[in-house]
Amino acid sequence: MQHKLRPIKLMEQYSKLREADLIDFISRFHENEGHVHRNCPVCSLDRASKAFEKEGFDFVTCDDCGCLYVNPVPTDDLLTMYYDGFSSMEFFHENILKPTEDERKKIFHRRAQDMKPFVKPGDKILEIGSSIGFFIEAALKEGWDVSGVEINSNLVEYTKNKFGVQIYQGMFEHVNFDHCYNMVVMWEVLEHIVEPYGLLKKIAQALPQGGRFVGTLPNIDGIEFKVCGKDHEMIEAPGHLNYFSIQTLEKLFDRAGFKLVFYSTPGILDFINIMNDIHKGESGSIGDSFLTQLQGSIPKEDWDEVDATLTRVIQKNKLSGNIFIVAEKL
Ligand SMILES: [Zn+2]
Repeated sequence: MQHKLRPIKLMEQYSKLREADLIDFISRFHENEGHVHRNCPVCSLDRASKAFEKEGFDFVTCDDCGCLYVNPVPTDDLLTMYYDGFSSMEFFHENILKPTEDERKKIFHRRAQDMKPFVKPGDKILEIGSSIGFFIEAALKEGWDVSGVEINSNLVEYTKNKFGVQIYQGMFEHVNFDHCYNMVVMWEVLEHIVEPYGLLKKIAQALPQGGRFVGTLPNIDGIEFKVCGKDHEMIEAPGHLNYFSIQTLEKLFDRAGFKLVFYSTPGILDFINIMNDIHKGESGSIGDSFLTQLQGSIPKEDWDEVDATLTRVIQKNKLSGNIFIVAEKL
């Protein structure tokens, strides 16, 4: 559940720090040398219509494939500053990621179970964006051969020391690897990447035929996004730059030389999260007042039950806010 992973009070502190970090970031971003225009991250065409603006960033929808994305985007230098220089990011790692370890470990344990049917004996697995090492730990428990790539230098040191495995520092595109990997995993990363097509092409080149890509990412067709619209807290630049659906992912992977062989939406609906987002927003639609009534009428101790019941139906219909995919290199 999101409220266990992102305690509300700490998230408020984080939001304040993030706002302060963003003031300087946004002014640099708006300078000519601070941003770059890009084509659609899915189909590479350059025909898009403005969807909305949020926190100083423009969100556009591709006229051709319908993908929602941020355009223009910060330069690589600015993005590195965001991931490796923001004090709010340090706060997030220290006060939110590390203390909620036990809850997060459960997620990575579940992800390892989800991907198990696709792991072959002897596979060498590379995780792009290994962060604080939760997946590395889950993979080691399964007895898998695993390495990581991570931009944030503190996290690289932390993970290397903790698990004694190879963690490369930098962006995947710029790292020279010692091994050949036959499985690449990316948990919640593809939505952060300026050129996901270029990255997937490079991953495809690095993998042997039949090599697999496994990952999760937000599902813009998920019910939470439909309810909250732009007020959803995951609609957040410059962190999240691309907002995929199953349809746009199929197109993207196909172009990059993969076949999508499996997908599901294992995400858990988070009623409390939706409520928080609605309170922050100003839209005031009928849907919002329906949910506000629900929140007022259902006692707090029953919310987990509401989440669980709705989640079952939503997962069955592949409408949760998170997609799990497996793609095979052709
Ligand atoms: Zn497109």
